[in-house]
Amino acid sequence: MIHKHTGIVILGAGVAGLTSAIALHQKGFSKITIYERRETATTLGAGLVLWANASKILHKLNLLSEVAKLAGEIYEMQRWTQKGTHLGTIDVQDINKGIGSKSYAISRFDFQQILLKKIAELHIPIRYSHSVLDLVTQETSVTVIFENQASVNASILIGADGRMNSIARKYVNRENTPVYQNFVNWIGIIESEQPIFTEHHVLDFWGCGERFGIVPITKYKGYWAGGKSLPRNSPLKQKNNKTELLKIFSSWSPKIKQVIEGTKEQDIRYLEVFDHHPISNWFRNNVCLIGDSAHAALPTSGQGACQAIEDAWHLAAQLSSAHTLEKAFSQFQKIRFPKTTAITMAGRELGHSLFNPDPEWCQQRNENAMHADNRITSQNIAQLWSKDLPQ
Ligand SMILES: Cc1cc2nc3c(=O)[nH]c(=O)nc-3n(C[C@H](O)[C@H](O)[C@H](O)COP(=O)(O)OP(=O)(O)OC[C@H]3O[C@@H](n4cnc5c(N)ncnc54)[C@H](O)[C@@H]3O)c2cc1C
Repeated sequence: MIHKHTGIVILGAGVAGLTSAIALHQKGFSKITIYERRETATTLGAGLVLWANASKILHKLNLLSEVAKLAGEIYEMQRWTQKGTHLGTIDVQDINKGIGSKSYAISRFDFQQILLKKIAELHIPIRYSHSVLDLVTQETSVTVIFENQASVNASILIGADGRMNSIARKYVNRENTPVYQNFVNWIGIIESEQPIFTEHHVLDFWGCGERFGIVPITKYKGYWAGGKSLPRNSPLKQKNNKTELLKIFSSWSPKIKQVIEGTKEQDIRYLEVFDHHPISNWFRNNVCLIGDSAHAALPTSGQGACQAIEDAWHLAAQLSSAHTLEKAFSQFQKIRFPKTTAITMAGRELGHSLFNPDPEWCQQRNENAMHADNRITSQNIAQLWSKDLPQ
């Protein structure tokens, strides 16, 4: 068995790094340290949906009651064209029933605070301002070299350093090339003094090569994402976000105009969107990848953070039960690869469909959506997302 006092180093204090530290602690591991390149705990991003598969794990990690206090439950997802034709509604409660838990929308800041509070209660140290430069294999460990000249030896190293420039992925996979998927997202979060959201109902508007989604957290608070098919380094990157968004989306639903106008410019971010081609090998020596560094999926999958949370659970379970590190890592990869690959591919399929700028294609896509049997859509989603979850 792997000794519970083995030194475990986690690279990255994102969703994957923080939840895996909590899951490992719950399994009895006592020497866990997280290293994070940022100077303090900062959240980039607006909000996220913790779908029922993730909330099931959060319940196991004793985090769900805190999430439920600050989050809003999601009951359904309505799809509309930009001109206001209803394309159908996905019943999220059906998905929830299929999985056996609830789905919650939460601001990234709130979710990060919940994770950080738990990490502090468990006395797990986070060393900020430690940007990893390189990993060097030793006989029975790996040495982590940081930009600030520090270094540390790890018997087990968990690479949770994200999708764009993961040093752990470079070490395991010998290269790390995120794939630009030809669209950008503007994301924003808004809190208003007046009620502006219909609780529990996600609104998803489809244009042609453009999309706008609105996720309520409460009546007063919610987040949104506007997407557009664009090459990298488009001139729009340098422009005022609000002005550009209003140019593109203000003729769509009045709700969209209202949320863009109500969001402060500093609460809007422009993101070029990348994912990763799946790689089937997630570990090398005593280094194992989790979260986005192992399998970054597009936001159109809706599952990036949820899958990071599932990874945390499964990796901790394998490390606490397997006889050797290699068995733990290979079993972890065996369980997680098929599900995360299916989710990455589903995210790409929806992304390519939503951001395809060909009008004929868009019309056909909308007709297909209008005639789809969304009970079957919900069943299919529940079937994929519930795969390999703990009872
Ligand atoms: C617009 C948008 C919307 C999304 N919506 C959802 C959603 O609704 N539901 C959902 O489940 N997912 C969603 N996601 C995906 C989700 O945000 C990610 O998949 C998830 O955050 C991955 O977590 P992670 O911990 O693996 O990576 P990250 O959150 O990127 O964390 C990586 C951490 O590692 C640190 N780091 C990086 N390099 C180094 C280094 N060299 N040294 C030390 N530290 C380092 C970073 O600073 C960071 O703190 C969305 C993503 C986007 C872009």
